[in-house]
Amino acid sequence: MPKRKTILGESGSIAFLLGNEAIARGAIEHGIGVAAAYPGTPSSEIIESLASVASDLGIYVEWSVNEKTAFELAYAAAMSGVPSLTAMKHVGLNVAADPLMTSAYTGVKAGFIIVTADDPYMHSSQNEQDNRWTGLHAYIPVLEPANPQEAKDLTYLGLEYSEKLGHPIILRSVTRVSHARGLVRLGPLRPPRTVGSFPREPQKWAVVPAHARKMKIDVLRRWREIEDVFAEFPYNKIDDSNSNILIVASGIGYLYAKDALKIVGVKAKILKVSTPVPLPRKLVEKAVNGIEKILVVEETDPVVEMQLKSILFDLHIDVEVHGADYLGRRGELTIDRVAEAIAKIAGVSWSPPKPIEVPINVPPRKPILCPGCPHRATFYALIMAARELGVDPIYSGDIGCYSLGIDPPFNAQDTITNMGGSIGLANGFSHTVKNRPVVAILGDSTFFHAGLPPLLNAVYNRAPMLVLVLDNETTAMTGFQPHPGTGLTAMGGKGRKILIEEVAKAMGADYVDVFDPYDVRRAIESIKTGLKAAMDGGVAVLVARRVCSLLATRLGLARDRYFIDSNRCVGCSVCTNILACPAIVIGEGNKPRIIESLCSGCGVCAQICPFQAIAKRG
Ligand code: SF4
Ligand code: SF4
Repeated sequence: MPKRKTILGESGSIAFLLGNEAIARGAIEHGIGVAAAYPGTPSSEIIESLASVASDLGIYVEWSVNEKTAFELAYAAAMSGVPSLTAMKHVGLNVAADPLMTSAYTGVKAGFIIVTADDPYMHSSQNEQDNRWTGLHAYIPVLEPANPQEAKDLTYLGLEYSEKLGHPIILRSVTRVSHARGLVRLGPLRPPRTVGSFPREPQKWAVVPAHARKMKIDVLRRWREIEDVFAEFPYNKIDDSNSNILIVASGIGYLYAKDALKIVGVKAKILKVSTPVPLPRKLVEKAVNGIEKILVVEETDPVVEMQLKSILFDLHIDVEVHGADYLGRRGELTIDRVAEAIAKIAGVSWSPPKPIEVPINVPPRKPILCPGCPHRATFYALIMAARELGVDPIYSGDIGCYSLGIDPPFNAQDTITNMGGSIGLANGFSHTVKNRPVVAILGDSTFFHAGLPPLLNAVYNRAPMLVLVLDNETTAMTGFQPHPGTGLTAMGGKGRKILIEEVAKAMGADYVDVFDPYDVRRAIESIKTGLKAAMDGGVAVLVARRVCSLLATRLGLARDRYFIDSNRCVGCSVCTNILACPAIVIGEGNKPRIIESLCSGCGVCAQICPFQAIAKRG
């Protein structure tokens, strides 16, 4: 478990915190008793930080199997009077959308904060959704911090407001807030509230239609109340200046706007918005007084801009409003982008400085599977098995580091859409594409997260497929968090270890096998049997189990060293082009050699070299 105990610093002291650590600190300053999440970049460090101090504080923190489960756990805590936090990346909020939409109806008894860490520019995500829309859709207010200090303060305040209003609150962070480090002044730590009560009150908590209809009236009343309360929210403010231009800046956009104004040399009034949803009507009314032009600065979608235009329309105020038309609505904001927009609205001439020329030609590098990655060995075995059987499967892929199987030399991911989508889409392909076997490829954590219902569906509805679970015994892509297959908990305790093969058997899969991907021939034979079972109309589940090579290094597991005997090597390129381990490079005489410091000693190259030119060093 990472050492993140800095978040327990003394009140009044200054700590150098990651935005996500600051969110964790804000939550414990309020006195949360429960936190739950599923890992996802850029949100993972929130729970890692809380888990690292959970036993010191006596609070309960867990990695749940998916975001919906995490949401429901934290939601129930808040229903029973225990303040709580749940955190996820933006697409994770989709998984939790079902209870989220209803939580606004029931409300909560204690503070309940839902952190969504959005990923503009999709650094590590499949889409760029802006979850401020989700707040509007769900009638759940959204707070948006600009930096780590505000990440802490708004988490604390969000929990306070949530408790006061009896309503859940979303905190929307973005990559540059969650993963930025900054100086954060710490506040006092309140003792956590960990025990609640739950008196029977079904008319409040059970959303049968008769109750829900009444609740909807209440939700709409609370929504108007929240709009008024947010007009007084301490982190919303108007920076006045003698100008007829108003910049309405949300979240991180505020910092970019302040810098950009200085760079361009323009004066403007700024309305700083920390509560983009719902946009506080009364504050807007105050800010637009005497204004002729407005620029809305926000990352990513025009969520504030749209609400602002609607308010101006209602108020019959006719001013020029720009936002997404000047700034675009994709990718991260930059100071240059904001400066250009400010220059344009102010009618001054400004263009961004030319990028500094670096006299080094850095070759472009694609992300690749690590040396000795067990997934590389499994992909190799998969391609060889299909080749030996003479079949051309549809490869239905999923979200995880194995998504890299999409690239050459494997080209073995035809679809990658969402968590669990591998088996989900395979259900469809198996009914519609008749002449090709279907292979669903997903990881161990993803299997537990969203693979169970579609696998059950495949067995029940007889959707023939081979499900290949690449089990590297951790959630590698988000930083090695545990999951039910590891038998470890977030707080470092022992959990019940759940075996994927036992789950698959219990669900009624027709053929189940476990193999070690480092045993290449055995892996190929197992996959061939699985493919045949799928072609015979069954559901086969294979577990390719071998610990992640990075984790093996971290755990200090002993490793061998391999070398290439240049006298035996004929330069056939099987090791460089078909296996493509990055530890093997082309050396002198156009022959391959192994960079031994990179080699993790998996031994796969030695098994696949047709000329036995690769061997273990002494
Ligand atoms: S597979 Fe063996 S023979 Fe072929 S290039 Fe690699 S080391 Fe040489
Ligand atoms: S043993 Fe071979 S395949 Fe494995 S990491 Fe070393 S060079 Fe790469």
